[in-house]
This record gives sequence, C-alpha cells and structure tokens, in this order.
Amino acid sequence: NRQWVLSNRPTGEPTLSNFELVEEPVPEPGPKEVLVRTSVLSVDPYMRGRMRDSESYADPWPVGEPMRARSVGTVVESNHAAFEAGDTVTGNLYWAEYAAVDGADLEAVDAGSAPDSTALHALGMPGRTAYVGTVDVGRVEPGDTVVVSAAAGAVGSVAGQIARIAGCRVVGITGRAAKVDWLTDDLGFDAAINYRTADDLSDAVAEVCPTGVDLYFENVGGEISDAVTDHLVDHSRVAVCGKIALYNQEDGDDELVGPRRLHQRTRTRVEGFIVSDHADRFDHVDARLRRWVEDEAIRYRETVTDGIENTPEAFLGLFEGTNLGKQLVRLEDG
Ligand code: NDP
Repeated sequence: NRQWVLSNRPTGEPTLSNFELVEEPVPEPGPKEVLVRTSVLSVDPYMRGRMRDSESYADPWPVGEPMRARSVGTVVESNHAAFEAGDTVTGNLYWAEYAAVDGADLEAVDAGSAPDSTALHALGMPGRTAYVGTVDVGRVEPGDTVVVSAAAGAVGSVAGQIARIAGCRVVGITGRAAKVDWLTDDLGFDAAINYRTADDLSDAVAEVCPTGVDLYFENVGGEISDAVTDHLVDHSRVAVCGKIALYNQEDGDDELVGPRRLHQRTRTRVEGFIVSDHADRFDHVDARLRRWVEDEAIRYRETVTDGIENTPEAFLGLFEGTNLGKQLVRLEDG
C-alpha cells in the first residue's frame, strides 16, 4: 500500500520535500471497518491549512501521518453491514492506494448517469460549497450581478452556474485565457476577467459590472478582493468561501491583506462559512445538484493527474492554477 505522509510542515509555499511516499502492508479492516481500494482521490486547497500547525476550524494533520483526501474507491472487504465487496463508495480516505475506515464514515456513490468521480466535485463537497455559498449565505436573487473568483475551479465553476440558473448576471475572475473561454463559451458566464492580463483589475470589474456588484463569491482574497470590493453596491453581500491567495502566507507577511477598502462599504454583509456546518441542508442540496447535472444545467470539467506518485504535484498545481475545473488524481488500477 503506497501512501503519502506529511514529512514536515511547509513554510510559505509547500514543495515536494514536504511529502514522502512510503510503502506499507495493505491494512486489515477491523470490526465495522471497510477496506477500500482508491480509484480516484481529490486534492483540495484546504489541505494547505491542515499542514499548518496553528489554530483553525480543524486540527492540523500530524507530521509523519498520511495525508487525507476525499476519495472514490471500491470495497475490497467489509466488516460493516452497509457495504459489501465490489461496492463503489466515497469518504475521507488518504493519499493512499488502500484505506481501512469505519463503514459509518463511508457513503455509497450515487452519481446517476454521471461518472463516479463527480462525487468529488459537482455532486460532492465542492458542489455543496457552491450551493451553500450562493443560496444560503449569499442569498442570491434574480437580477443580481454576481462575481466569482477562482471561477474556473471546482467550487467557483459550480457557484457561477448556480447564480446563472438563479437569473443573475455572472462574472468570473480567473488566471488563464483557456479558463476565460470555458466560462464564457461553455458555462454561460456573461463575462470573465483574466486577472493576470488585466491592466487595472478594478477598472476591468467596473467595465463588466455596469450596475455594480450585488454578490461576491470570494475564493481568493488579496488584490482580487480589493478590485471587487470597489464595486460592491449598498446592501451587497460577500460570501467568504476561501482565500487561496493567502494560504501560503506566514504570520507577519502583510503584502496581501485584502479586501483593504471594505470600510467604504458599510452596508455590505460579509459572511464566512464552512460547508460542513450546513450538513442539515445536504439532502436538499444534493437533490438539486443531481438534477442540474443530469439536465446539463451544470457542466463540469476534470483535470486528471495519473498515478499516486504524482499526487503532491497535483496538489501544488492548485496554487499555480494548473487545474481547469476539478483537480483529481487517478490511481493506476482505478
Ligand atoms: P479550485 O479548483 O478553484 O483550485 C484553486 C484555484 O485557485 C486555482 O485553479 C487558481 O485558479 C486559483 N488560485 C490559486 N492561487 C491563486 C492566487 N494566488 N490568486 C488568485 N487565484 C489563485 O479549488 P476549489 O474549488 O477546491 O476551492 C476554491 C476555494 O474554495 C478555495 O479558497 C478553498 O479553500 C475554498 N473552499 C472553501 C470551503 C468552505 O467550506 N468554506 C469548501 C471548499 C473549498 P486561477 O487559474 O483562476 O488562478
């Protein structure tokens, strides 16, 4: 069983040297446990937070222990009544070929006609995050102008499409031309801004949001937040989902502290959220997402890296924006 452990904690940008690939015997499932062979695993920005030894909404992962990942896999052996060998399941497993976990922590994959891997994005945690952020936290209304940052990623692409379905004008901010094209040509965004090539990002937002911004779905922070904040209208909302531009900063770094001009937006409601706090909504949210994916009202793309040995590169790519849509790692025999 090859698996990646956190070998030491990064300072600033994580590097390959923070991870070590170790080989151990395939675990034996204990009472009520299920042995799962991973087919596809998800790398996510929040993992950077778990690598850091500081106070957060979740405990840090211990050095020397395997990195965790939501994954889809096949049951090899089951000591839990709910599962049998051959079942396709999803759960919080590891950057590993095999995992033995309590069956209570697994769910059967129910992706309908969509691929099972969608349980890791449009029909899984990122999709739920997009829904909670736009609908419950952002209280999206028809006619709103909605700006989404990291718009071509797993969460952002779904958030923008939910806003489009709700009858909004939707603007995405992203860092590559191919992503701009995907958002506007395939996903129905009204406009998309490339933050790397825009002369002045605040002017670029003004140009495509002539009546201002009613809802900002915040995934990035820093200068992108500053540029959007300039155009928030009275009674606008900011759903703070994440701030990936700040995740590699250390205490004392202060170049990227945006949004810096929020004090000029006194009638804006800014609300952060963690998707897992909204579990009581998931039955409803999942049913919605499934219908939209079935109807192709929500479309998705996957960027797939092959081989467990390439998992750290796939993770590091999230901070470079090498992923279009959801970044996944497919295991050789998955
Ligand atoms: P994505 O699929 O969006 O991948 C990350 C993307 O972020 C990259 O592709 C890149 O796109 C962009 N990015 C990375 N670094 C920077 C930077 N310095 N400046 C601007 N853009 C950058 O990841 P997810 O969809 O999984 O996550 C998106 C956000 O949602 C993250 O902030 C994450 O932490 C948050 N999140 C929050 C949850 C919650 O419960 N609150 C749950 C899940 C996710 P580009 O090429 O456009 O730069």
